[in-house]
Amino acid sequence: MIKKIATLATACFFSFTVWAEHHDRNKGFDIKVTDLGHGLFQLRTDRSGNVAVLVGPEGVFMIDTQMEHLVQEIDSAQKKLSGNRDVELVLNTHLHRDHVRGNAYFADKGAQIMAHPNVRKYLESSRAIVALKRAAPEVKPTYLPNIGVSTGSTVSMNGQTGYLYHTPNAHTDGDIFIHFKEANVIHAGDLLFSGRFPFIDIDNGGSVAGYIAGMEKVLEVADENTRIIAGHGPISSETHLEDSIKMLNETHEIIKAQVDKGMSLKKIKQLNPLKDYTAKWEWAFITTDLMVQTHYYDLTGRLE
Ligand SMILES: [Zn+2]
Repeated sequence: MIKKIATLATACFFSFTVWAEHHDRNKGFDIKVTDLGHGLFQLRTDRSGNVAVLVGPEGVFMIDTQMEHLVQEIDSAQKKLSGNRDVELVLNTHLHRDHVRGNAYFADKGAQIMAHPNVRKYLESSRAIVALKRAAPEVKPTYLPNIGVSTGSTVSMNGQTGYLYHTPNAHTDGDIFIHFKEANVIHAGDLLFSGRFPFIDIDNGGSVAGYIAGMEKVLEVADENTRIIAGHGPISSETHLEDSIKMLNETHEIIKAQVDKGMSLKKIKQLNPLKDYTAKWEWAFITTDLMVQTHYYDLTGRLE
């Protein structure tokens, strides 16, 4: 059962910046560095998951490691912030390739890799993402996280206490978000696609209800001053989470009404009942059609 948030009706209007993603994969790219204070920085490429680093005298802690072809530039960017230190500790927020495929690079240099145990399980079993017609990934042993963490785990480093939370069956079955208490910064992983449709990986244990519950958990931990690093999109606040929860509840109800009438996925896509959401929420590969499919797959277990 998907919970509604009554207070959403009164949520303030929030104007989203539309973040264009026009980069050519073969050209150089910029890493946008945002200083969040307390030694915390966001490293953003707009190509795949947002990375965060905590730097200080006790070492470098990185959250998410991006893809193989981006990882060296990510490492160069963090070295400028950390005085040329290697990354000692990594947290993967979940199992998707744009968050874990830099693991091998940092593990080869001696980093310890933490993740929820389901991330290692997924990488070892190498499962496909059927909904995206994406084959199972090829995995080297050095991609694998070697420390299992979940709700209740903490990381104390450089004057920060990072509290970890596992949100079951949300974006995947292995999502962790981290709250740096002293800095009041959260890295939400892919529990937040800020101002854009989310991908929910139902093939790997995700669900719409769990995703909404995951976002509500982030809201519960956050307060009005918390800065939230989204898995994808700009640095956000509680308002962005509330807006995403509202959109997901509304779009789920719309697709459920069509499913209840016995409509096929093809027919629902033709009717395009989420068209009013397209201008604000569609982006890159998460099209309105894919959002329709996600709700349909969640409700029926079928892709047709
Ligand atoms: Zn993801």
